[in-house]
Amino acid sequence: MVTVIVRSVSDEAIQTCFLAPGLLRFARNDEFLAVTAKQGNESAMTFDLDIKNTVRTIPDYPKPGILFRDITTLLADARAFRRAVDELVHPWAGSKIDKVAGIEARGFILGGAVAHQLSAGFVPIRKKGKLPHKTVSMSYALEYGTDEMEMHVDAVQPGERVILVDDLIATGGTAEGAVKLLRQIGATVVAACFIIDLPDLGGAAKLRALDVPVRALIAFEGH
Ligand code: AMP
Repeated sequence: MVTVIVRSVSDEAIQTCFLAPGLLRFARNDEFLAVTAKQGNESAMTFDLDIKNTVRTIPDYPKPGILFRDITTLLADARAFRRAVDELVHPWAGSKIDKVAGIEARGFILGGAVAHQLSAGFVPIRKKGKLPHKTVSMSYALEYGTDEMEMHVDAVQPGERVILVDDLIATGGTAEGAVKLLRQIGATVVAACFIIDLPDLGGAAKLRALDVPVRALIAFEGH
């Protein structure tokens, strides 16, 4: 695959990869932007793959002032769902990943699909009290207060390579707790993947400070 760096109008470096004859993938800082295709003699046409447009925003849910980014509309769109999963796994296609850990609950849906795509096992990270076997637990920071998450103590073997998946990273409290939980039982956390990053809340930066590479497909400004 050939990667070419071009400059956008705003002087950002845009990486262009030739995926297949007539098929181009555009990325900025390894973040997926778009895929374009030439069909017959038509000029390059952008696929209707704007993942951002498939996310529904619900103001004031679950409480006033929150813009809830609802991915159920993305999941219901076959092409967007497939594209999102393909883009999440893209950097690890062909590399050895033992497990994908999904955070309850939307991380289960995405994590299952990602695990299937990578031929890896799937591990659920659940809210306290939901798992039937012996667990390890970790408390994590919420906006107000703390909560606890758990996973089965034998879900990951020491040294296994794990990718963490959730739908969205905001303050990073949840993902940070999950990384600590995985490390507690000896996992190597290869990366954390999200459809959505809310960069103003600093969660991705928090994970990177823990030496966890972060992959997010799209970002929304603000809360
Ligand atoms: P945080 O721990 O602050 O990074 O929050 C991340 C978790 O809360 C994820 O499991 C998200 O599904 C959920 N979450 C936080 N903020 C939002 C939001 N604005 N829209 C949808 N889900 C959110």
